[in-house]
Amino acid sequence: MTFALETTGLSKSFGGFEANADVSLSVAKGARHALIGPNGAGKTTFINLLTGVLPPTSGSIRMMGEDVTRVSQQGRVRRGMARTYQINQLFADLSPIETISLAIAEREGSGARWWNRVGKDSAVIDESEALLRRMKLGAMMTRRTATLPYGKQRLLEIALAMACKPKLLLLDEPAAGVPEDERHDVLDSVEALPDDVTVLLIEHDMELVFSFADKISVLVQGALYAEGSVEEISTDPHVKAVYLGE
Ligand code: ADP
Repeated sequence: MTFALETTGLSKSFGGFEANADVSLSVAKGARHALIGPNGAGKTTFINLLTGVLPPTSGSIRMMGEDVTRVSQQGRVRRGMARTYQINQLFADLSPIETISLAIAEREGSGARWWNRVGKDSAVIDESEALLRRMKLGAMMTRRTATLPYGKQRLLEIALAMACKPKLLLLDEPAAGVPEDERHDVLDSVEALPDDVTVLLIEHDMELVFSFADKISVLVQGALYAEGSVEEISTDPHVKAVYLGE
């Protein structure tokens, strides 16, 4: 079977400290896979290895069957890997329609040229509008991004990743910092992502994880601790003890 993502014995040491220890994790094509674990478990390190921000100390990473362990960050993006960031990195002064149109034009190889004739390329605008509507940003797409509610800004980060037409989307805590009354919006939009995009979600919010994921992997002290369905993980006494603090 070819996996969307497959790590084999992936390890990362900082000095003598092993932040990721022999992690072999497989994400099936089209999966809704969640990676959970307490603070300091090594989730961010794992994402940084997957995206090529950090080189592993040992082990390998395959994407859609291809070994990408030594492929650059940009090379992984070109092959269909996209990520969102935990920290808001959006262009505060642009509107969502400008942000997404620019990303789509960039993907099509005409970013700067498109920018200099804003509004002229209707195919780019049409695709941007469709994507923003799908992410529940349709009513706010011409507003300055800095003025959007925080949950909407998080959704725009996902829309920005989706503008790259990824095969594999890495979502890094999309609900972090989102106020309670906006969380269902984030959850709905994450659940409405197209089926042909494989999603690996790193998230603390258990409600989101349990309603979204079809498979959950638990990382503890850098190593895979348990894997299974929502039913299995949510009822596992060890996981409850280690992760949920019960
Ligand atoms: P998580 O995202 O699950 O909270 P991290 O991957 O951020 O976990 O961190 C895992 C462990 O690795 C932590 O103990 C952290 O202090 C350590 N760590 C992460 N990055 C570095 C680094 N660049 N240098 C040294 N230690 C690091």
